[in-house]
Amino acid sequence: MLGWTQSDFGEVACDVCQADLLIKKNQLAPGCPPMDIQMDPLGDVRHFLEHPPSLNLPPAEKDALLEAADKMRQLVLDSGHPLSRPQLEIARRAGVLHPERVRYVCMSPTEFQRIFPPKLEELMGLPASTFLGLTLGPDAIIFVGEGSVDSDVLAHELRHVRQAEAAHDSGSNFVNAVLAELQRSGYERSAFEVDAYAYQDDPRMIDGLPATFELPSVSRL
Ligand SMILES: [Zn+2]
Repeated sequence: MLGWTQSDFGEVACDVCQADLLIKKNQLAPGCPPMDIQMDPLGDVRHFLEHPPSLNLPPAEKDALLEAADKMRQLVLDSGHPLSRPQLEIARRAGVLHPERVRYVCMSPTEFQRIFPPKLEELMGLPASTFLGLTLGPDAIIFVGEGSVDSDVLAHELRHVRQAEAAHDSGSNFVNAVLAELQRSGYERSAFEVDAYAYQDDPRMIDGLPATFELPSVSRL
């Protein structure tokens, strides 16, 4: 089963965009244990999305980076997979408003390093070889690995999806704010990462769900 249906979960309005949602907040998927993860109002993340620190790059380099990120997002949307039912449950726990829109691909580390812009690597202060996942907007995730992903990493990336939803665009506002905050605070102290790790590290996120998911790999994007 690739997605929840409306009859499974009823309808509520998105508290941000008022769009109809398929998932009722705080309602559990059948068979999942009770949990009470409070939807985080996003705190500092929302602030940085609304008032991003300026990205200290020449305009042409900034544009090229945002373009590269958007191109990667389009590749994911063109060839990605929707979340499975247990993955949708993790998305719900991460507060994602529109999990049915999310697509992902799983790439080998070699493939990922091939498409990852060196400038982005430099700006993030992290080599592409250390990435386990990359969220490119409210609907696109790249997982890096040999065909599987740990559920807590999935929770981390899905929390970034929730953050991107709060940026109210297809991805570039989110990417711009993430990069500016990374440049300002560094990876470990970035508001976006602190928030995502809080969800990754919360055992309730994956309670009752598989610890690992097998993911279909793409050989080449
Ligand atoms: Zn992250």
